[in-house]
Amino acid sequence: MAVNIEAYKNIQQELAGKNIVLVAVSKTRPVSDIQVLYDLGHRDFGENYVQELVEKQKQLPADIRWHFIGHLQRNKVKEIASFVHLIHGADSLKLLSEINKQALKCNRVIPVLLQMHIAREETKFGLDEAELKEVVSHLPELNHIAVKGMMGMASFTGNRDLIRQEFAYLKAWYDRLSLTGKGKEPEDCLPSVPHLPLSMLSMGMSSDYPIAIAEGSNMVRIGSLLFGARA
Ligand SMILES: *Cc1c(COP(=O)(O)O)cnc(C)c1O
Repeated sequence: MAVNIEAYKNIQQELAGKNIVLVAVSKTRPVSDIQVLYDLGHRDFGENYVQELVEKQKQLPADIRWHFIGHLQRNKVKEIASFVHLIHGADSLKLLSEINKQALKCNRVIPVLLQMHIAREETKFGLDEAELKEVVSHLPELNHIAVKGMMGMASFTGNRDLIRQEFAYLKAWYDRLSLTGKGKEPEDCLPSVPHLPLSMLSMGMSSDYPIAIAEGSNMVRIGSLLFGARA
């Protein structure tokens, strides 16, 4: 399946002027497909398997901004720590501590998004409200990560109202966390942390990105619309 350049151009046009980042999700695609979009000027690519990302990173231009969008296992962090641009799926304090540790070894600060569990499905990863608060309270100890925003995946469903509600819920938490950095503590007092305010809200994929944008997303992760359906 060839890269759908027309779809790429249409989506870019749709996003133009709105300050929304398109992450082209290239998991399972060959490096030649990535190169096609690269040659059109695209730089943000998303992968969700560590081994695959490491292999591709070696073969492709160094100025690609690699987004790790999948569930990241702690023992794999060290393999991507030196080059990853943004980790979208930070979903536990243990994982954040490991990212912090590996970032320190590489002498860098790794940008991350806190992933919240927003879908009414058991299978999706992410923090619940209590875990989010717990994680946020520990952020001041983690000097080698920079929390830039939040990420979430809506339910896989044809129920657009449900998808909209799930995205709206994430946006509300994003706004709430953003405020804590500005000295406006929300009702139940999230601690102020140096990372805030936030600037990235990663939500929306091929099937639901227009809803996500309507609900305030400024970073969409799109795969199959650009590269065709995955096997
Ligand atoms: C695969 C994947 C996407 C892209 O999905 P498409 O439906 O192909 O657009 C987005 N986000 C995450 C976390 C993914 O794993």
